[in-house]
Amino acid sequence: MQFSKRKVLKNINLTVEEGSVTAIVGPSGSGKTTLLRTLNLLQTPSEGSVEVAGVQVEANKLNKAVTRQIRAQSTMVFQQFNLFKNLTALENVMSPLIYNKVATFDEAKAQALKVLRDFDLEKIADQYPVTLSGGQQQRVSIARAIVSKPKVVLFDEPTSALDPEMVSGVLNAIAKLAKQHITMVIVTHEIEFARQIADQAIFVEDGEILAQGPANEILSSTGSGRIADFVNSLE
Ligand code: ADP
Repeated sequence: MQFSKRKVLKNINLTVEEGSVTAIVGPSGSGKTTLLRTLNLLQTPSEGSVEVAGVQVEANKLNKAVTRQIRAQSTMVFQQFNLFKNLTALENVMSPLIYNKVATFDEAKAQALKVLRDFDLEKIADQYPVTLSGGQQQRVSIARAIVSKPKVVLFDEPTSALDPEMVSGVLNAIAKLAKQHITMVIVTHEIEFARQIADQAIFVEDGEILAQGPANEILSSTGSGRIADFVNSLE
């Protein structure tokens, strides 16, 4: 993966098991977001290949059809929520079902309400994003990401734009999904959370995977290596 002539990701070899949670951690600017965005081709790789739920594509054979197929398998939760400001919370959650024509209006409404209820958001279903707290907005965006039952949900630093008191509500919502064995890849600086819910962790530095393995081992704060130093700097 490169921007202009500069290689931002190198030698990446990452497999995510179905039903598992993978945490991507590492210093700012190391390539975590770029890696996440490459998984659903929001960023186009310059070499290598990407495979999601059986749909595989080589970097030099990318086209619109296969990009659409790959994107249909996964959804993304962004740092800044990215809700549609002119739609209510309920309409935001309904939107992927309506846009992709996979449900009638009434079905979409019923499914969206169910997900909002699961996240304790039923009360704010008819409110517009501007009237919601950051934590509520992020939980609505998570509801929107899962309503269409994607194979994979990608989270790009889902709590880093939140006030501290909002963080735990969003982490709890993500932990709830982990319990349902929804496949997730999460870029996060919440090390303790990652240790608790992730099966696998990868540590990225300078565009390369420096370490990869069970989250509680990789994210250990004991020891003297580069990763332990990083983990300790955040805790
Ligand atoms: P992280 O998520 O670990 O903070 P990023 O994936 O955002 O890192 O960025 C990795 C590197 O790629 C950084 O050096 C960043 O400046 C650069 N970069 C990210 N996006 C772009 C872009 N659209 N154009 C050029 N360089 C970019």
